[in-house]
Amino acid sequence: MPNIAFVNGRFMPLAQARVSVEDRGFQFGDGIYELIRSYGGRVFHIEDHLRRLEQSAEALGLSMVYSKSRWKAILEKVHARSGYPDAKIYIQVTRGAAPRDHSFPKKARPSVIVTVRKMTPLSPELREKGASVLTVPDLRWGRCDIKSINLLPNIMARQKARSAGAFEALFVRDGLVLEGAGSNVFAVIQGRIVTPPNGPFILPGITRDLAIALAREARDPVIEKGITLEELLGAEEVFLTGTTTEILPVVQVDRKPIGDGRPGKTTRRLYQQFLQSIRP
Ligand code: PMP
Repeated sequence: MPNIAFVNGRFMPLAQARVSVEDRGFQFGDGIYELIRSYGGRVFHIEDHLRRLEQSAEALGLSMVYSKSRWKAILEKVHARSGYPDAKIYIQVTRGAAPRDHSFPKKARPSVIVTVRKMTPLSPELREKGASVLTVPDLRWGRCDIKSINLLPNIMARQKARSAGAFEALFVRDGLVLEGAGSNVFAVIQGRIVTPPNGPFILPGITRDLAIALAREARDPVIEKGITLEELLGAEEVFLTGTTTEILPVVQVDRKPIGDGRPGKTTRRLYQQFLQSIRP
């Protein structure tokens, strides 16, 4: 099956997809993105992802180009053409191609790109044993709620974690643990599920919302409040959420064990609930 792309209105094999070197996404990182999963041929939480794309577009004065229903139709079509029932669907919208100048171009048409690739799931061993994470200072800007394609601090943080043998980096700002380089963070502290509140310093994760809803369904208390590094290290359980990460237990933070060093029972139950929720 081919990897498929949709570029400015045309479907093509991913290997043939091209944008201009003058594209502002390439020149400035002037663009936004979304990553959506499909499971068993169904695009997961498509409405939520499109809503967040729209919020990012609005925040940057970018046009969404297409109506929501057109977007849905494009995503379904490009996904169907790929033939992958379990896929990663990547969307990118940039301010388009124009002669390089910081201020917005008067005439550029936004570039819209959608690509579909087969999803390679995380290793069963990682899911079973849990992940280790490394905390890093948060060097990002003050609008981390926008899903911007400017990801240098995230890339540097993730690489630092991987070089240290950790799966993910967790950003710490003013003593508070905010989120991962590509995931949201939760902790179980004194029997309560805690996650940092949405705001300018975290991405409002779709999987974060789902995890909160699943926890509430199971009548677990959930509170949205800041988590200090000290609280995280002393937590009974820690887990990450994200579109590709799903719900992943964390068993080590900065090489120190969390709880008894094994995935906790709340995390394991939430993951089972998550698996239920992806069934048709
Ligand atoms: N935070 C950041 C910085 C991310 O890049 C992601 C992944 N998109 C998330 C959180 C998780 O968000 P979602 O559950 O919507 O994938």
